[in-house]
Amino acid sequence: MIFFSLLLLVVGFGTAVLSWLLVGQMIRLAPSFGLLDRPNARSSHTRLTPRGGGLGFVVALAVVATAIFSAGLAGPQAGAIVGWAGGLALVIAAVSFSDDLRSLSSVTRLALHLGSAGAAVWALGAFPALALPGVAPLDLPLWAGAALALVWIVGLTNVYNFMDGIDGIAGVQGVVAGAAWALLGVEVGAPVVALAGVAVGGACAGFLAHNWSPARIFMGDVGSAFLGFCFAVLPLALLVQLGQAHPRGSLRSDFLGAVPVFAGLVVWPFVADGAFTFLRRLRHGENVLKAHRSHLYQRLTISGWTHARVAQLYLWWAAGSALGALAYVWGGTTLKGTVLAAAGLSLLTVHRVTKHAERRAKAGVTAAGLPQQQTGAVRPRLFLSPPHLGADEFKFVTEAFEHNWIAPAGPNLKAFEEEFAARVGVKHAVSLSSGTAALHLAMRCVGVKPGDEVFVSDFTFIATANPIVYEGGRPVFIDCEAESWNMDPALLAAALDDRAKKGRLPRAVIVAHLYGKTANMGPILAACERHGVPVIEDAAEAVGATYQGRAAGSMGLAGAFSFNGNKIITTSGGGMLVSNDKALVDFAHSLATQARDPAPHYEHSTIGYNYRMSNVVAGIGRGQLRVLDDRVATRRRIYARYQQALGGLPGIGFRAETPWGTGTRWLTCITIDPKIAGTDREAVRLALEEANIEARPLWKPLHLQPVFQRMGCAVFGGAVSEQLFEHGLCLPSGSAMSDIEQDRVIEQVLRAAKP
Ligand SMILES: *Cc1c(COP(=O)(O)O)cnc(C)c1O
Repeated sequence: MIFFSLLLLVVGFGTAVLSWLLVGQMIRLAPSFGLLDRPNARSSHTRLTPRGGGLGFVVALAVVATAIFSAGLAGPQAGAIVGWAGGLALVIAAVSFSDDLRSLSSVTRLALHLGSAGAAVWALGAFPALALPGVAPLDLPLWAGAALALVWIVGLTNVYNFMDGIDGIAGVQGVVAGAAWALLGVEVGAPVVALAGVAVGGACAGFLAHNWSPARIFMGDVGSAFLGFCFAVLPLALLVQLGQAHPRGSLRSDFLGAVPVFAGLVVWPFVADGAFTFLRRLRHGENVLKAHRSHLYQRLTISGWTHARVAQLYLWWAAGSALGALAYVWGGTTLKGTVLAAAGLSLLTVHRVTKHAERRAKAGVTAAGLPQQQTGAVRPRLFLSPPHLGADEFKFVTEAFEHNWIAPAGPNLKAFEEEFAARVGVKHAVSLSSGTAALHLAMRCVGVKPGDEVFVSDFTFIATANPIVYEGGRPVFIDCEAESWNMDPALLAAALDDRAKKGRLPRAVIVAHLYGKTANMGPILAACERHGVPVIEDAAEAVGATYQGRAAGSMGLAGAFSFNGNKIITTSGGGMLVSNDKALVDFAHSLATQARDPAPHYEHSTIGYNYRMSNVVAGIGRGQLRVLDDRVATRRRIYARYQQALGGLPGIGFRAETPWGTGTRWLTCITIDPKIAGTDREAVRLALEEANIEARPLWKPLHLQPVFQRMGCAVFGGAVSEQLFEHGLCLPSGSAMSDIEQDRVIEQVLRAAKP
């Protein structure tokens, strides 16, 4: 007994350490194999998270099992049990791995579940007529076999989908359930069950060590299906060993009855969650077998609970159930009744908690960054570029509340400005209420006066040009080049030469960097320098983009940024003006705060504005800045997936990467040439709208905007932007978008493009 207890300890700790090492390796290796999970609307991780934690976990178990069983330490029939069960487990792991790479159809998945359940019952000799070589037959009443098969299927089907291991939920359950099975195995003298229990519990602990909030790796289908398999096979293994220990047919009936109850309760969060998910999907007419929707823990997190809190809840539930189940094995009739009643009560609790979660979700209480999920037949609307919050925003905002820095000024503001300036590589920054405000202040700083001309990109959002008019200036539009879709440097140089000849140079040039890509700044800056005209960059859509290693917005006299809700990072609304010129930023700062002169009373010698960002909002900005690199990587990956799926279609064009820098792919934009594609931009847009997917034409050139036509604004060129407007379409590109959601878009475009 002492020897066996020691053995259990060694196996438990050994597996934990081995699993910890191997999962750690997976965290390092996964990125190089592209095994990464992108943040999406259902997840709480904010960065690309490695997958394949389950692989490390399975290998650790396999090594330990081989060692134990080759040493012959696991008791009667261990070799045959583990041989059959382990073989099946590997098949299941392989199936889930291929499901990860290429989604299986629901029917195939169901067939595999039923098949593996049947195979395990058969392989472990649960029915005498079907006994296999090496495993003694075991008489099992039909009801017990059916109950076990049910536990198996519900547990496995659910755990199969329960892959996330987000903040260690799967690990938590695994530790509790493994420990409970080990205890039962010791109690009834089934060594293979005791050893398997501690090994599985240890492996889960090793996984959990890397994953207890925040998640650093996903267990993945391989790990969770394997885990489900282990827990499903343990009751059978227990029966087989009991059958061996007792003469055939004399299996104690209270043990027989205990096993399904124990199995059901111990894997309770799996089973209850599975049963709940199953019924809910039936009610909403959803595909019962489809992964990833309306799990209890998802409902909870969507309604505003954190993953860590849900994991704790599951831990307590699982531990309580395990103790209850053990009491069932040891207890008398009254206790048995009590445990069964408690199990019923737990189910009721799940029901109530779910209802509560749904009410909260309906009332709009959602976790940070998680859009509300709709269930049922209606597909949720896919937006072009919805906000996507990270993990730190809430912290900074809460700090502001805790210290009562709700008045506009406060430490987040200064910190955000410093952090942003450092990121962009400029000396000074002032945070403002919007990108438009930043451009307006830039116009004041360069001294635009009524009647002055300002050259501005023709192909852009109207906010780039409006601030010129605020100051009474006249916008002159410069067309874009076909290659970059941004201001054409040659056209700009020609326009400047033309105005120089007339002796009427513009007060400034505003260059917009569209859709996350910079304009060709080298020749643009050179042309402006030749004529001594300052350049203002509108980098509202290009936070994070670079030109020859320099950040968008850092190259001209000043740069304007936007943190509106649809931009790559957002503060719900806000902007920033940056420059290396301290006097300029100081002046902008003063203008943004009502242009107050230094005096104890309120003294003003120029007209100012109330354009300052608030300290609360700056807290969101600080958190967002930390996830900027993740957001860029994600948007670029979304672009790559679109291009891979749609790039081969005739007549569909993608905006190429320019040789001078790296873009953020804020939005993926395509062009559709109706002569070749057999469809046109509007047809594709309407098809997407029909499927509840938001897509928009590219910007309408400013020289075509009625307001500027009425003002008689001049334009240089114009044909290139007109062409882009006619044929171009922006596709949903939000960084919270899942692959499945992206596939919805791809499917619709493919369908619309088919002749
Ligand atoms: C969004 C945007 C702006 C304006 O920014 P706001 O913060 O919304 O005022 C200006 N220019 C371009 C090109 C934009 O896309």
